[in-house]
Amino acid sequence: MDKLTLKQAIEACHAKGQKVALSFCAHVPAEILEAAGFCSMRVFHVNDIVDTSERALPRNLCPAVKEVYCLLEDEAIQAADLIITESSCDGKKKMYELVTAQDKLYYYQVPQGNERDYVRPLLRSEANYMIKTLDKRFGAKVTEEALRQAGKVMNAEREAVTALMDLQKTVPPVTTGLEIYKAWEKAQAISDRAERTAFILAERDRLAAAGTAVSADKKRILITGCPIGGVYEKVLAAVEAADGVAVCFENCEFVKANARHLDTETPDMIEALVDCYQNTPCAIMGDNDRRFALIEKLAKEYQIDGILDLALTTCHAYTVEREKMHRFCGQLDIPYLFLESDYSDTDAGQMKTRVAAFIELL
Ligand code: SF4
Repeated sequence: MDKLTLKQAIEACHAKGQKVALSFCAHVPAEILEAAGFCSMRVFHVNDIVDTSERALPRNLCPAVKEVYCLLEDEAIQAADLIITESSCDGKKKMYELVTAQDKLYYYQVPQGNERDYVRPLLRSEANYMIKTLDKRFGAKVTEEALRQAGKVMNAEREAVTALMDLQKTVPPVTTGLEIYKAWEKAQAISDRAERTAFILAERDRLAAAGTAVSADKKRILITGCPIGGVYEKVLAAVEAADGVAVCFENCEFVKANARHLDTETPDMIEALVDCYQNTPCAIMGDNDRRFALIEKLAKEYQIDGILDLALTTCHAYTVEREKMHRFCGQLDIPYLFLESDYSDTDAGQMKTRVAAFIELL
């Protein structure tokens, strides 16, 4: 997505009389925003944002954190009504304090562990606090019924993204990882969630109908780690220039966030939100066993030959979890490659060489 597309998406919501809430992390319970009448958009990567963070932020900070800062300082998105910041990682949490438009920010506290006693009460308290704040700031009422409806709409989108990813389960896969990622990325420009879901399903059908042009001999790669919006082109170019094909993205654009399901039949919708968002297998979690269990399951379902773990530069959560993931892949007897990268192209050549050497060994 580029800045103009994002700006036009915000304007399209305003033209329909809808306020816009932007968020940057899969931990944020967007159902609450939708139930409050907001158009909620999760921004993954904006490709023409100029890096203006030099004075405010350390040069070697995670590129995703720097990009969100620059985006929030850019006049292109000043029209957004609400910005959901969150405590996913320390870099992001502290960066949000530097943003100029503090009056537009809402801070969402993400628990840092999955299984401790405090996690569920915290998620419940955060959900209730967000609901109260939206009422106080915007007069927006969130009812159980509105949450239920928003949950249904978001579940439909999760299922559509899963259906798109599932195209790659066959041998040979239906298409390249690049085509799958691009189809999903195009959909992100659509602000209306139901329309976006329909677009993803139409893209899925288009790709399925085109039939496969991928050879069955290609080595099947699962990509895990940080969100890959800013690096996917060079990573996938490297995989596909070698004898590989990306068949599964565990990253939070795809499986990590969309394997979750919100129970819309339960009487207590806040409890349903807690169940759904507690189940986020992200490396910022102290005990992140859920990520490992998910990787094991995906490795079987997608018949994986190799795992490529991609961390953005200086992301402590994923770079430190690397060793555990490396050992885990050893136990599963699946070859593993770790890559650390940023949003520049300076390492594209080196990445190509390393990925080619890895795939050759599979
Ligand atoms: S990639 Fe890591 S450092 Fe960057 S925003 Fe995500 S959790 Fe934070």
